[in-house]
Amino acid sequence: MAPTLTTEQRTKLILGALEAKERAYSPYSKFPVGAALLTRGGTIVKGASIDNASYGETICAERTAIVKAVSDGVQEFIGLAVVANINSPIPPCGICRQVIREFCALDMPILLVPGNYPRPSSPALDFYYMEGGVRETKLDLLLP
Ligand SMILES: [Zn+2]
Repeated sequence: MAPTLTTEQRTKLILGALEAKERAYSPYSKFPVGAALLTRGGTIVKGASIDNASYGETICAERTAIVKAVSDGVQEFIGLAVVANINSPIPPCGICRQVIREFCALDMPILLVPGNYPRPSSPALDFYYMEGGVRETKLDLLLP
């Protein structure tokens, strides 16, 4: 799949997600996640995962970012990046996919960033990975 964002947009999203992950509150899950949304206006909205002692109340990074943006009056997004501390790209969970669907186009690029970004390329494994180990996907490939 060809990249659909500019290099500058991709970099903003990836760095935003990495920065957001530093603010994650994850004393229970030990699984900090960061997300970044690129708005049509060119700004980045960051979201971190927020654990709760009641596990079901945990809020994912993707939903934090969307809720922050929408509650500030922004509803037009052109890209999303998500990163955790594991060295493979992880896709949004089912609840997040549904929330993303509410506000984002089905073909909006979603960058799944490995925790060890930028990862050295390994051509044998990376036929569908983008530069730095980032996998680009979109919502209609993630929704059942
Ligand atoms: Zn989620």
